[in-house]
Amino acid sequence: MRVGFIGLGNMGAPMAANLAKAGHDVFGLDAAGATAEGVKQVETIIDAVVDMDCVITMLPNGRIVKEVCEKALEHMVSSTVLIDCSTIDIESARAVHAACASKEILSVDAPVSGGVGGAQAGSLTFMAGGSQDAFDKAKALLEIMGGKIVHCGEGGAGQAAKICNNMILGISMIGVCEAFALGEKLSLDPQKLFDVVSTSSGSCWSVNTYCPAPGVGPQSPADNDYKPGFAAELMLKDLLLSQSAAELVDADTPMGERAAGFYQKFVDNDGTGKDFSAALEFFKSAARG
Ligand code: NAD
Repeated sequence: MRVGFIGLGNMGAPMAANLAKAGHDVFGLDAAGATAEGVKQVETIIDAVVDMDCVITMLPNGRIVKEVCEKALEHMVSSTVLIDCSTIDIESARAVHAACASKEILSVDAPVSGGVGGAQAGSLTFMAGGSQDAFDKAKALLEIMGGKIVHCGEGGAGQAAKICNNMILGISMIGVCEAFALGEKLSLDPQKLFDVVSTSSGSCWSVNTYCPAPGVGPQSPADNDYKPGFAAELMLKDLLLSQSAAELVDADTPMGERAAGFYQKFVDNDGTGKDFSAALEFFKSAARG
């Protein structure tokens, strides 16, 4: 297939490289001139979308996705499917689907979980929203970049699943960080706490796979001075998306709201540029108050 890939950042570059490695003809466009292995660099949106079987976007936010898609749609034809893999707000995702539908272009919102490691390994989880026809057309490419592909429902359902998942992640990471900071203050060896929790009812991804305590559990950003990984400001972005979605449908999400408030405070106070698991350091230095 001929694939236009727009946004070759931390996630997009390895995803595009995996498509190229699988034998597809991939044409990459990035505003900052980023490139990816095996991907032909193009300079204009026209070159990234004309004559493509599929156009994939992996961009920072809903505003940028809408702007890029608006320009892309001017040059796309109905045989091309659009897959947006960015994490964006549901309203923007629905607006992109509607713009595509008005040109009879099939579209899928397909945000991912699994981080840069998953993007490199081709083992991302994709949560897809869109019609069955659109999903069927996108699936083969998603299977190259991902290990698990779930068709969650109509347009926007992928973003809905993504923000629900990341709301759980934000809340659980805060819980784990609180517990490990409390454990340290109670003179517990973090390794012993890990050994207990990771095989007990407190076990979860934030402990077992991504433990925020340095030197404990599998390698994680905690073992690399909390370099992201998944930056605290991206977690804040996703938690704020969960809160605007909750407002949209009048859902009560008290823990999600607290988690968004916590990450806002963390990002405003030295957390920017650190992995979201560095919340542990915050709790270690914080007093009860
Ligand atoms: P990034 O900032 O590394 O990459 C975004 C890229 O988009 C940049 O290279 C930038 O130059 C490019 N870009 C911005 N505006 C553009 C435009 N108008 N035209 C072309 N290129 C443009 O971000 P990332 O970490 O790759 O994340 C991308 C998306 O994936 C985000 O929506 C993020 O929330 C989501 N995501 C990230 C992770 C992660 O661990 N990093 C995990 C899951 C989902």
